[in-house]
Amino acid sequence: MAYDPDNIFAKILRGEIPCTKVHEDEHTLAFKDIHPQTAVHVLVIPKGAYQSWDDFSTKASDAEIGALIRAVGKVARDLGVAEEGYRVLSNIGENGGQEVPHLHIHLFGGQKLGRMIKPA
Ligand code: AMP
Repeated sequence: MAYDPDNIFAKILRGEIPCTKVHEDEHTLAFKDIHPQTAVHVLVIPKGAYQSWDDFSTKASDAEIGALIRAVGKVARDLGVAEEGYRVLSNIGENGGQEVPHLHIHLFGGQKLGRMIKPA
């Protein structure tokens, strides 16, 4: 499926709708989730037009991939959750429950998170 340039994160990247930014570099943007599910809940996204992990892992440059991984670590440190621990999660496609078709990594923290996931 082709990347939808009108998805909500593409609009955030173009500055058409606001976000609460916590990090930005050449290749990535991180902002607070609008409906936080934990005390700390941030989304880290690549700036490029990538829909999913499949897309990103096959088409993104090493610089883009490295930047995304490093940004997650930096955001965790900046928000003070690195020491106590946190969780990263990315929902991919239909079975993954992905709602916004622009690759994003959820960073959850600031509290105990329980064990893993509950399949539907
Ligand atoms: P997913 O189900 O993994 O696609 O998650 C999409 C996430 O995007 C959800 O946690 C939403 O709360 C979040 N979200 C949707 N719209 C916005 C927005 N405008 N700003 C920040 N987060 C958003």
